[in-house]
Amino acid sequence: MSIYLDSAATTRPGEACIAAMTEAMRISWGNPSSLHRVGLEAQLRMECARGQLAAALGCEPSALIFTSGATESNHLAVRGAAGAYGKRKKKVITTTVEHASVRGAFDMLEEQGFEVVRIAPDADGILRAEDIAAAADENTCLVSMMLVNNETGAVLPVQQTFAMIAREYPHIIKHCDAVQGFLKLPVSPEKLHADLLTVSGHKVHACKGVGALYRKKRIRLFPLMKGGEQEGSIRPGTESVPLIAGFGAAAAELSETVTARAEYVGNLRSELIAGLEKAGGISVNSPSDGSPYILSFAVRGLRSETVLHFLSEKGISVSSGSACSKGKQSGVLEQFGVKPDLADSTIRVSFCAENTPEDVTALCEALKEAQERLVHKR
Ligand code: PMP
Repeated sequence: MSIYLDSAATTRPGEACIAAMTEAMRISWGNPSSLHRVGLEAQLRMECARGQLAAALGCEPSALIFTSGATESNHLAVRGAAGAYGKRKKKVITTTVEHASVRGAFDMLEEQGFEVVRIAPDADGILRAEDIAAAADENTCLVSMMLVNNETGAVLPVQQTFAMIAREYPHIIKHCDAVQGFLKLPVSPEKLHADLLTVSGHKVHACKGVGALYRKKRIRLFPLMKGGEQEGSIRPGTESVPLIAGFGAAAAELSETVTARAEYVGNLRSELIAGLEKAGGISVNSPSDGSPYILSFAVRGLRSETVLHFLSEKGISVSSGSACSKGKQSGVLEQFGVKPDLADSTIRVSFCAENTPEDVTALCEALKEAQERLVHKR
C-alpha cells in the first residue's frame, strides 16, 4: 500500500509536465539566449511556458521572472526589494509564521541594519490585517506575508492587509509568498494588491528546481547575482528550459480545475476531521476556515516522529510540520497558539486531487491502531 498525504512538501510530477519536459529536452534543448535557430526554438518553448504561467496568474507574461524555486523567489523579492527601495527607508515588515526562506531573508536584512518588525498572530491564533497594517509607516519600504501557511493551512488576510497599506502608504512594496495557494485556491497578484508574488513548481505537479517571481510593472529589484542578461538581468544564468516547460504545462493543466479540486480535497479534509473526531484523543491545529489542502492535528500522548514512522511502515506518508525543517520544530505552530506538548505530537496531512476517500479511511484506521498500540506503552 502506498498512500501519499504530503503534497504540501512536494507533489508527483504530472503527465503534462513530464511530456513537456521530455519534449523540451529532445527538441528545445538549445540556449534560449542563442541567436541561431536552435536557440530560438528553446526561447519559443520558454516563452510558451511563461504565457501558460501568466494565464494561470492572470498577469502579463513579462511580469514573470523564472527562478530555481520559491526559496530563491522569496530571497529575490525580499532582499531585492529592500536593496532597491531601502536606502533611506530602513523598516521592513513580515509575520512570525512565514516559511523558513522568508524568515531567512529577513534575518539577513536585519544583519544589514534593517529594522525588521515581525507581526505575530493574536491570542486566538489569528493574524489580523489591522495589526500588520498598523506597523507600516513613512519609513517602511517592504511588507511580506504568505497567503497560505504551509504548516497549518491558515489563510492569511493578504488582500485586506495589502489594500490597507496601499491606501495609506502607496510607496511600500508588498510581497506575498503564495506557494501553498497557487493553483489550489484562486490566486491573482492583482486582486491581492501584490507587487511581488512567489510561486514554486514542485508544489503543483511540476518538477523541483523551478519557480517564478511575479513582479508588477515598474517595481525595481536589486539582483541577488550579477551575470548575464537573462530574465531582464534580474536573475542571470541560462534558464532551464525543460523545467520551465514542465512548470508551464502543469500550470496550464491545473488552472482549469482550481475550484473543482479545492472542493474535492475540501471534502476529503472534512471526512478526515470527522474520522479524527470519531477516533478521539486528537486535537486539530488548523483553523476551520483554512486551506482545504492542509490539515494539522496532534495525536495526544504520542510524539510526531513515532506516529510518522508507524504510518510510514504502513505505507502512509505524512509529515510532522514542514519538510524543510527535516521534522524539526519551526516554532510556527506555537505562534498560532498550539501548546508545546501538542506541537510535539503534531502531524500534517496535505492533499492533492489524486487522493481518495479510501486514503482517508486507511489513515484514520492506522491512526486508531497507533493510539491503541502505542499510547498506553508510554
Ligand atoms: N514557501 C512556502 C510557503 C513553502 O511551503 C515552501 C516549500 N516548503 C517554500 C516557500 C520553498 O519552496 P521551494 O522548495 O520551491 O524552495
